[in-house]
This record gives sequence, C-alpha cells and structure tokens, in this order.
Amino acid sequence: MEKAIVTGGAGFIGSHLADNLIKEGLDVHIIDDLSSGKVKHLPAAASFHQVDIRSQEARELITSIKPDVIYHLAAQADVNRSLNDPHTDMSVNVGGTINILEACRNLSLKKFVFSSTSAVYGNSSESVLTEGMPASPLSFYGLSKLAAERYITLYHDLFSIPYTILRYGNVYGPRQTAKGEGGVIAVFTDKLSKGESLKVNGDGLQTRDYVYVQDIVSANMAAGRAPDVGTFVVGTGIPTSLLDVIKILETTTGESIPYVHGQDRPGDIKHSCLDPALINRILGWTPRYNMDMGISETLRR
Ligand code: NAD
Repeated sequence: MEKAIVTGGAGFIGSHLADNLIKEGLDVHIIDDLSSGKVKHLPAAASFHQVDIRSQEARELITSIKPDVIYHLAAQADVNRSLNDPHTDMSVNVGGTINILEACRNLSLKKFVFSSTSAVYGNSSESVLTEGMPASPLSFYGLSKLAAERYITLYHDLFSIPYTILRYGNVYGPRQTAKGEGGVIAVFTDKLSKGESLKVNGDGLQTRDYVYVQDIVSANMAAGRAPDVGTFVVGTGIPTSLLDVIKILETTTGESIPYVHGQDRPGDIKHSCLDPALINRILGWTPRYNMDMGISETLRR
C-alpha cells in the first residue's frame, strides 16, 4: 500500500487532503503539532503523530515511516502573525521545511509536494501571475515561503529529491478558520452566522483568485502522482473583488448583507490572479468549482 505523510493534516487544507488520500486507498500519516489544527478534523483512518516539524522526533518519524510521497502543508500561515513575530514564522516555515528535507535525503521519495503561496509575488504590476514572474514578497510570511521554496529546489539539485511546489491563490471552504492565510470568506461566513455586520478592509475593490479547497486537494493529488518536477501557480484565472464576494454571499443566502469599510491592512496585496495554464498542461489540473458552488458548499457544512 502506498504511504503518504501529510504535515499540517489537522489543519484546514491538510485535513481535506488527508480525507481524499484515504479514499484513494493510501496509508496516511499525519504530522501536526495542533498549534492551529484541530483533532476533530483528523480522519479516523489516518495515523496521527502530534509532533513539531522542527524536531528531531519529526525527522526520525519520517525515516521510520518511509513514505512514498510527502505533502508538506504544516506552516505558520497567518500573515499578520508573521509581521508581529517574524522569528517564529521563519523558524516554522523555513527551519521546519529544512528539517523535513533533511529526513528526505535518505528516502527514495517519489515526490515532495509543497504548499506555497501567491504571496511570494508581492504587489506585481502584472494583472495575471505566471510561474516565471519575479517574486518580491510584501510580508515575512511570503518571504519565508519563498525561502522554503528555494531550499526545496536546491535539495532537488543537490540530492535529487523530486518536488512539486504549488503556489495557491486564496483557498476557502469548510473547516477554514478566520486566522490563516486568505481567510476572508471564513471571516465573513463566521460573522454572518453570528448576525454581525462585515468589515471590508479598504475600498473592497482589491481582488483575489479564490480557489475552493477540493480543487487544491486535486492539485496536490495530481502533483503527488506525476513524475514531473516543477513549480506551479494554482488558481482559477478569475479575479474576484471583496465587494463581489459579498454579492455572491447575498445571492447564496438570499439576504442583504450590511458591511462597513475599515483600514487597508499592512502587507496586503491589491490584486492577485493566477494563470492556471501551466498546471493544466503539465499536471492536467483544472478547477471544478466556481465561486457560487464553492460558497454554497462552504455555507452548507
Ligand atoms: P492551517 O493553519 O489550517 O494548517 C496548518 C497546519 O500546520 C495546522 O494544522 C497547524 O497545527 C500545523 N502546524 C503549524 N506549525 C506546525 C509545526 N511547527 N509542526 C507541526 N505542525 C504545525 O492552514 P491552511 O490554510 O490549511 O494552510 C495549509 C498550507 O497551505 C500552509 O502551508 C499555508 O501556508 C498554505 N497556503 C494556504 C492558503 C490559504 O488560502 N489557506 C493559501 C496559500 C498557501
């Protein structure tokens, strides 16, 4: 039976990925320290190891499991926290990634799949981002993810560890909390459930490429299966403004939604949209959920 390790498998995206890998018949091991992940999200059929990815224990565990594929999602994924505590952000996102890569040196791994972010690009002048564009992060979070990417590509060059780096747009879906990266839909749906009005940072015209979590899962699974090494952006190619998100929420709930405007957030990018052409061509990946479908799934659960 093929073995997979999912780091961060108690978290929002990692727990959906672990569910799907189990459905595909894989032996799934989850490494998570539960710093933001939740026990209730852990699939019963997975083997759970409550371990910090920065520890020697994590390295020994990976060596003993001998996985075929590692999906590395564990991270400090909160942009604001990265600005207030860059040391921890760097320690988890860079140090933790290096620690796992060190364990991979002695494995015959089929693939190391890394969850990166479109935040590595910063405020690009291009309206649609592609893989070859220069990276220039605006937050310590984006910087630590970019540094982790560079370690991964160098480990590949030096020690032949096959990798796929996936730079996600704004992921949303059930189990997301308001804390992590791209949590605006989680923040909005949480406020709606409490009957509170929404706060729109800035003018609300800032756009993002929102990707439903099941589409991110299918991108990871395609990456885990494919022999191709490379870096891909994972998005729909469709920009959606914050005000558009509110309109979709209004259509889905059938209710008018009140909101107020607040300050722009430091480190926030104005526009971000990702071109899925390369991942479509190389990995055969295409998003299956539009925002109406994704938001109604998110509200239903
Ligand atoms: P999340 O916070 O829900 O999941 C991260 C998981 O990692 C949590 O379960 C947490 O407990 C675990 N973790 C954190 N530090 C750890 C450590 N030192 N040792 C072991 N486990 C640790 O976040 P998410 O939204 O599911 O993000 C998953 C990945 O996707 C992250 O790498 C994130 O940077 C990336 N990403 C997310 C988005 C998004 O929109 N949510 C966008 C781009 C990239």
